[in-house]
Amino acid sequence: MINPITRHRARCRQTRALMSDYLDDDLDPESRRRVARHTAWCPNCGRMLRTLSRTVSGLHHLGGLPDEPSDSQVS
Ligand SMILES: [Zn+2]
Repeated sequence: MINPITRHRARCRQTRALMSDYLDDDLDPESRRRVARHTAWCPNCGRMLRTLSRTVSGLHHLGGLPDEPSDSQVS
């Protein structure tokens, strides 16, 4: 029997692994639904998705990571 907290953490980990593809629109419909459903009720993952989506839209608008140290840039 799996305790609910362990299961919850496993789902958080899976959701986070899918988040960047979710924001890039690279997921199949079933995975998209799973991410959307999880982030709708899990405050931690919901917050992470919002943070990540700001970063991703920043990337698209600026063509680079905002406020990143220059040694992480590829030129
Ligand atoms: Zn979660």
